[in-house]
Amino acid sequence: MTKRKIACPICKKPAEENWLPFCSKRCADADLGHWLSDDYAIPGEPVSPAPEDPSAED
Ligand SMILES: [Zn+2]
Repeated sequence: MTKRKIACPICKKPAEENWLPFCSKRCADADLGHWLSDDYAIPGEPVSPAPEDPSAED
């Protein structure tokens, strides 16, 4: 039996069989989102969501 431990490419945790090569649906979706947003090639992903504030004063 040659069962390798695969690290999730998103969070580096051990991958789950159900979500290979990811560890969870969350990471699988995250990876898909990266591809769709075409920023997957950017090293060191800047996680800084800036939601617009509808109640912003002017
Ligand atoms: Zn993960």
